[in-house]
Amino acid sequence: MDNCIFCKIIRHEIPSYCLYENDDVMAFLDVNPTSYGHCLVVCKKHYKNITECDKKTLDAMIEAVQAISKALLKTYACGLNVLSNINEVAGQSVMHAHIHLIPVNKDGNKANIQFNELKDVPLKEIYDNIIKNI
Ligand code: AMP
Ligand code: ZN
Repeated sequence: MDNCIFCKIIRHEIPSYCLYENDDVMAFLDVNPTSYGHCLVVCKKHYKNITECDKKTLDAMIEAVQAISKALLKTYACGLNVLSNINEVAGQSVMHAHIHLIPVNKDGNKANIQFNELKDVPLKEIYDNIIKNI
């Protein structure tokens, strides 16, 4: 899709901190993270949301979710929220199927970001830490 921001990331027309890529899926850091390590698994074919994906695509997404989840847990999280927003009313802002992986940690190791830190999130450093574990 020409005007879809995730399709542009997939075509490498706009940059991303890409953690993983194969023929069917891509995983990259969310630019506006809820917590350190917040990333997104997207399918390469443009589907509006996960309910519309074909089985091969969905299987590939779940495999990537599992692999990236393991890397995030190893990197710093004591927990993870895995979720997909479907339709605007549920918070979907990018109409290209994706799954959020959001590290959750309450022990002060900075997996969680305070709201006032959001503008200074060190994405490159986060990327370097996670990629070592993939
Ligand atoms: P959702 O609101 O569930 O549709 O999630 C879309 C997510 O995409 C949001 O968390 C955004 O921060 C994220 N996002 C938007 N543009 C980009 C981008 N260029 N690179 C990485 N993440 C993005
Ligand atoms: Zn798209």
